[in-house]
Amino acid sequence: MTGLIVKNGKLYECRSIALVTCMKHQRTTDQIIEIRVELERQLVRLEQSMKVTDEALQTVELDQAAVGRLSRMDSLQNQSLSKGLREREVVRLSQLRDAIGRIEKGVFGMCTVCGGEIPYERLLVFPEAPECADCVS
Ligand SMILES: [Zn+2]
Repeated sequence: MTGLIVKNGKLYECRSIALVTCMKHQRTTDQIIEIRVELERQLVRLEQSMKVTDEALQTVELDQAAVGRLSRMDSLQNQSLSKGLREREVVRLSQLRDAIGRIEKGVFGMCTVCGGEIPYERLLVFPEAPECADCVS
């Protein structure tokens, strides 16, 4: 039986018996910390891009008051793009917050559908994933 660990951003395969014992729970505290750091980083990035979207949504309101028909159509188009973007940002925000919440509750990495463990490799790629690959429809 082998396990995978991440150190300094690199993925290592490890056959150490001590580690494998730890790996019964699939992931070590270090791995959770690593994922948490990544989640927090993504959260900060998302909050920054949400500020930009805020500005875009506000700019559209100003434009609409000030400009002619053609630009108004542009503005409406931009507005619907910004609104679509905002909806996706809100979904993403709650996914990231939920994932951090699961870390705090100590249930991170457990599939919310079947209760099974989500493989660490999947969590590395989709740290916010609430369910295992089998339970994703
Ligand atoms: Zn599952």
